[in-house]
Amino acid sequence: MGNTSFNYFMPTQLVFGDDATLGLDGLIKGKSLLIMSDPFLYNNGTAQEVAEATKIDSVVFFHEIEPNPSCQTVDKAVALARENKVDVVIGLGGGSTMDASKMVSCLIDNEGSIFDYYSTGNKTLLPRKAQLICIPTTAGTGSEVTNIGVYTNKETHTKMPFASEYFWPDIALIDPKLTYTLPPHITASTGMDAFCHAIEAYWSVNSNPISDALSISVIKKILDNIEMAVNEPGNVEARNNMSFASVTAGISFSQTKTTGIHAVSFPLTVDFGASHGIACSITLPAFIRFAYAGRKSKMDYLFTVLGFSSIEDFAGRVEDIMTRIDLPTRLSAINVKESDLEHIVEVSMKAPLIHFTPGTMNQEVLHKLLKSIL
Ligand code: NAD
Repeated sequence: MGNTSFNYFMPTQLVFGDDATLGLDGLIKGKSLLIMSDPFLYNNGTAQEVAEATKIDSVVFFHEIEPNPSCQTVDKAVALARENKVDVVIGLGGGSTMDASKMVSCLIDNEGSIFDYYSTGNKTLLPRKAQLICIPTTAGTGSEVTNIGVYTNKETHTKMPFASEYFWPDIALIDPKLTYTLPPHITASTGMDAFCHAIEAYWSVNSNPISDALSISVIKKILDNIEMAVNEPGNVEARNNMSFASVTAGISFSQTKTTGIHAVSFPLTVDFGASHGIACSITLPAFIRFAYAGRKSKMDYLFTVLGFSSIEDFAGRVEDIMTRIDLPTRLSAINVKESDLEHIVEVSMKAPLIHFTPGTMNQEVLHKLLKSIL
């Protein structure tokens, strides 16, 4: 059990189910809609289907969101939203689009650019007026139920999370059918991102009994379903379970924040081009072994409840599954060399999240951990 004195806050309404998207018209509270998505979801017609389901006449589309969204792209979408006096924003996509939609929905009624608030900017956001609805199309980030957005500043070559009380979406609408088009490699990497959320929330120094319960329930679900979802894209049950696991893990880490895995993922994405899911999961087995030292009795409880005989049995099973779904577990697979470790460690140690990892974490310890999986 985590801390017994805690605060639980999750103000987002959850709507979950196949074809949940069709009920959008009953949820919208506005007249002028912006649907944000990415090129794939626009070109395959998903964005237009969602627009139709809202039954709103005034709709504009912004479909230029790239993975690890840049501040420049966010500002471009803000200009479109302001020009059209948008009062409802739908973020339809993976974490990249949902994160971008959070900032855009706030900036409609806040002056200036994302740079005034994020990165080098120090202005404080005023309350969001537009309605914000997030609809995930990957089963991974849980962004639809967090108050976090992660943006890339191309000028400083950095990727950082930003939290705001106005980033909690009003509604998280999860329609597992939207994930059926995910190709195996994105199903695999995003699914393991959800696993990282669940387990990082569990071992986090900020964990609490509710986040623990949520995490334990979905860690097993992901282990039992991810291979099926990857190998059988149309397996309805596996897809449903992965979508449910992703949003549940999202609620869990929305309370605790993530830890070392995510801190290290930022330089692995920015400097080595790894997708978010790979940048996280690549260090997962090593962090499971590391967290054991700092959280022994809690990790003992976890692997026992899940039916494993030891932490090595558990970490080994995670590694086996990752290998079977074609995910790397060695840093050399994404071209990290020993000479790169110093930089990765330096950047990771600057992320406040690193300090939520259990046990002693410092430059030397992290360097050793990363060196062990080169
Ligand atoms: P993504 O949104 O970057 O999308 C990855 C790729 O998947 C894109 O090419 C996209 O077109 C494609 N895609 C999305 N849905 C699809 C579908 N249904 N069918 C086929 N292709 C589809 O990927 P992601 O992993 O969901 O999001 C990663 C981003 O989310 C990162 O920037 C990460 O830092 C952030 N993140 C945010 C939070 C949070 O709480 N805000 C949590 C974790 C991660």
